[in-house]
Amino acid sequence: MSTGDIKSQSNRCISDRFFNQPISLHLIASPDGTIQQVNQYWEKAFGYTPKALMGRAFFDLVHPDDVEASRAALNKVVQSKTTVCFINRYQHKNGQYRVLAWSAFAEGPGQTLYANATDITKQQQAEQSLIESNTHIGGKYNQLQSLIKTIPDLVWLKDTAGVYQVCNRSFEKFFGAKAEDIIGKTDYDFVNKELADSYKIHDLAVIKHKKPSIYEERITFADDGHIELLESTKTPMFDTEGKVIGTLGVGHNITQRKEAERNLALAANVFSHSREGIFITDPKGNIVSTNDAFSFISGYSKEEALGKKTKFLQSKQQPPERYKTMWQTLIEKDHWSGEVWNQHKNGTPYAIILTLSTIRDEADNVINYVGLFTDITTMKEHQEQLEYIAHHDLLTNLPSRILLTDRLNQAMAQCLRHQQSLAVVFLDLDYFKEVNDRYGHDAGDKLLIALAKRLKKVLREGDTLARIGGDEFVAVLTNIDNSQNCTPMLERLLQVAATPVLINDVEVKVSASLGVTLYPQDNVDADQLMRHADQAMYIAKQQGKNRYHWFDLLKEDAFKLRQKNLKRLYAALENNELELYYQPKVNMKTGEIVGTEALIRWQDPEYGLLLPSEFLAIIEDHPLNTIIGKWVMDTALTQISAWQTMGLDIPISINISAQQIQQSNFIECLTEKLTAHPLVAPHNLELEILETSALNDMLRVPETIQACLKLGVHFSLDDFGTGYSSLTYLKRLPVNMIKIDRSFVCGMLENSDDKAIVEGVVGLAKAFQREVIAEGVESTAHGSALLKMGCELAQGFWIAKPMPAIDFPEWAANWQPDKAWRLIKT
Ligand code: C2E
Ligand code: CA
Ligand code: CA
Repeated sequence: MSTGDIKSQSNRCISDRFFNQPISLHLIASPDGTIQQVNQYWEKAFGYTPKALMGRAFFDLVHPDDVEASRAALNKVVQSKTTVCFINRYQHKNGQYRVLAWSAFAEGPGQTLYANATDITKQQQAEQSLIESNTHIGGKYNQLQSLIKTIPDLVWLKDTAGVYQVCNRSFEKFFGAKAEDIIGKTDYDFVNKELADSYKIHDLAVIKHKKPSIYEERITFADDGHIELLESTKTPMFDTEGKVIGTLGVGHNITQRKEAERNLALAANVFSHSREGIFITDPKGNIVSTNDAFSFISGYSKEEALGKKTKFLQSKQQPPERYKTMWQTLIEKDHWSGEVWNQHKNGTPYAIILTLSTIRDEADNVINYVGLFTDITTMKEHQEQLEYIAHHDLLTNLPSRILLTDRLNQAMAQCLRHQQSLAVVFLDLDYFKEVNDRYGHDAGDKLLIALAKRLKKVLREGDTLARIGGDEFVAVLTNIDNSQNCTPMLERLLQVAATPVLINDVEVKVSASLGVTLYPQDNVDADQLMRHADQAMYIAKQQGKNRYHWFDLLKEDAFKLRQKNLKRLYAALENNELELYYQPKVNMKTGEIVGTEALIRWQDPEYGLLLPSEFLAIIEDHPLNTIIGKWVMDTALTQISAWQTMGLDIPISINISAQQIQQSNFIECLTEKLTAHPLVAPHNLELEILETSALNDMLRVPETIQACLKLGVHFSLDDFGTGYSSLTYLKRLPVNMIKIDRSFVCGMLENSDDKAIVEGVVGLAKAFQREVIAEGVESTAHGSALLKMGCELAQGFWIAKPMPAIDFPEWAANWQPDKAWRLIKT
């Protein structure tokens, strides 16, 4: 039976349901309980004709003890308008009471009662006898009842006619129906005729033989088609006289058990038919079971294997530690998997992939170990083939790049051990593309094969020749002392590569360009060595092909050193190791401090205080140059405001590199920085650019200077006199000040040329109405001479050396110009 069946039952119209129940007692009464109509069946069951009952009160015949409950039930029928079930004892004409199970509902305008009763006297007796027959177990009736209610097995009672009398919760749950919809009905109401017939046959057999019987029943559910299996025990029920009055059914759902059995059978089938070898051991590691594939792969029959430890399968060449670690891992992790070499019964070794697993029971005790293995010997052979392919160039059969790297690494280790050198030669054919284009790829291939053979012949034993690309080869030459003793070999390689090859009756001639580097002189790893040889080969090509070129270690070293220093300088900037020192600019005549030049220093934790000449070269043409330039600008501006707040109003000049001033966003940057320091008057910032760099870019620089001047920032031309200072250029550079280079100042006392230049520059500045300042005043005499020439502004060690910002205010407060200078008349 299924929920679907039950639903369709309840869908039928009420009257149908009401009158078509053959074994039911039907009764229609008014709401006050006056019987209006009964069916014929009453006469047979209760001795009253329908006429005799009409007009009587329904409750007259109810057992006095049951009247109250029955009245309450019928009230509920009228009020709730649902079907209500109840049981009472109803009096037969002969005075005896029979037990009736009622189901009643109310309908129509006067709330007419429709009641429908089943005589369950016999079942009551059966239940009673069940109770009695069980009392000796010591169970009380209530306990038993609740047990029946709650056990997971299905329990039901049918009378001898197959009518359901009782069913428990599990039964309801299993069929998805309520007891009240089941009781009073037969299997024919729920399942198809065929199945109901079979049930009936079972029931009748039990009744006939008066013996319990067990049946297995398949129940297909109509709504979703799923199938459940019930194992039903049917027991005959007897009344006190020993007459069978029905059957007691207990159904046990064995669907899962059956499935488990099926799975077990399946597993057994898989076990014996698997192509993987399987063995099972006891917790001590003794084999207790094997399958056919086990015997097929190992050569040992099941009988030969049983009781042995799996170790007997292993090959002698397998290190014994492996066996130990395998079992150790298995014990620790419940799982092990890996490749193992075993030995066939006939002595041949074979490779397997073995997976070992631990099987534990619910209490976590090891009950078995299971091993599964696959023969991978053929796979291994394939692998070897694949490995050869990976390690060799199939056209020339020469080692490929992978094998080359391997061999090179070995040779490098050898070199270190025996204090020898090796050479890595990168060989690239010249004009190979032309051969391909002209004679076709086939010819190209033939040429490669022929040249590979020849080149290989040139090499000695222990040397390696590999093909690593189209027309690229690498040779590793071992046992080399120095670059000279390598030369003959290089010459030979060139000669062999340039010797014509006969292909399809045509003489084809190419040549080779070689790049060479020596290890460990070039002390890098294998990859780098090849790259260096490649770089050198490139130069050989550029220099005209058909030649070799040695990799230049010195150049490479300088490059690396620069990279390293750049990194350090980056870190220095980040770690605040850069600092600005300040050197005053003064008027030697008036004693006025006209400004101060910011000069960069690197306070290196390792090397101490470094001067610009020691590190600025590193960042030439490097973006870091501009970054540091911005840092200088920022720091100087911050310093100006710091001094301003102390009451020290001093312009600071900063040195701008050629690269920095040529940046397209230079003005933008400067504006941004000035905006960031709104308290700083722009004229307190002065930019010094080298005369040479200003002249380099005569288109852009004058424009930039103009823009700076517009912002209010001052400009001076540094190291004036060292460039091609031409009058016309100076005219186009609208700077505020010219700085005479210190080399002329230093030399002017002894050298008349220098003196002439200084005089010339001073005169030029006057003519162009620019201010002029001299650098490198190292003595009183320098100052005096400059004053005599009309140059009052100066900077130099005699006045002050560059000093940390913190020392500057004190210096400024105490400085006095040289007394001798006051006497000079200008
Ligand atoms: P410069 O612009 O010509 O700076 C003047 C240099 O002359 C400073 O050297 C200063 O210490 C030195 N000096 C000053 N008075 C005397 C003197 O009486 N006798 C001698 N022999 N030397 C004197 P420093 O600080 O070593 O700077 C060298 C150069 O590095 C500077 O030459 C400048 O071109 C560059 N430089 C310094 N700081 C920076 C900077 O922040 N940015 C850029 N781009 N370059 C800078
Ligand atoms: Ca300067
Ligand atoms: Ca200078």
